[in-house]
Amino acid sequence: MYQQIKDLPFDKQVEAITRELVGVKSVNGTKGETEMAERLEDIVRSYPYFKAHPDHVWTQSLENDPLGRKNLFAFLESEKPSQQTVIYHGHVDTVGIDDFGKLEPYALDPDALLEFFKRYDKDQEAREDALSGDWLFGRGALDMKSGDAVHLCNLLYYSEHRERLRGNVLVMFNPVEENDHSGMMAATKELIRLKKERQLDYLAAINSDFVSPLYKDDPHRYIYTGAVGKLLGCFYIRGREAHVGETVRHRSDAHCRQN
Ligand SMILES: [Zn+2]
Repeated sequence: MYQQIKDLPFDKQVEAITRELVGVKSVNGTKGETEMAERLEDIVRSYPYFKAHPDHVWTQSLENDPLGRKNLFAFLESEKPSQQTVIYHGHVDTVGIDDFGKLEPYALDPDALLEFFKRYDKDQEAREDALSGDWLFGRGALDMKSGDAVHLCNLLYYSEHRERLRGNVLVMFNPVEENDHSGMMAATKELIRLKKERQLDYLAAINSDFVSPLYKDDPHRYIYTGAVGKLLGCFYIRGREAHVGETVRHRSDAHCRQN
């Protein structure tokens, strides 16, 4: 990957890596999550800094995971020894693609989706977005393969400008974000191990997952700060047939009346 992106401007690097990652199907709860971690590892290992320091890239397998999922870590050391460390964090899984309906075969093909939406007349806004050339379509393009790509491009930049770093960068990519976070929970053990062994001082963790507008046509871009947790609410809704419980009969009743 390094050879493909090294001469591109930063935004084009991010786009190229995003397209590459969207092409890897990594739906939560499938082996694709493992394949995505492997693809990310290949990208990181293609960078000259990590070719020179192969032991600065490693994986941590999730215990008893039948899909062989793993966390990926990459450690970029500052030129001047420092304990201060910033963590870049991203997740590798996406939600499913069945909601694409008849477009499902193209869910990972940004170019095909773009052509489709350029001619789509059922949602004018989507069509205008497609025609603008400013949008990239595809499962995971937003959540969060473009965010992973930003981390990878920043990692590349700083690996080639280590004199600009006043501390270390620790990148980690985790599976299983879209449900129970077992990747992130396992990673905390690794973070504690590194902290002890290398006496690291974690200054901040940057999660580049997507943020959304707060209202229609919101021109602002947001950064949220602070310590965050995540609460996964679950709702079990049980219904009982009421007066429209059998819609087929209602429809045929209406049909009879018309006749
Ligand atoms: Zn996400």
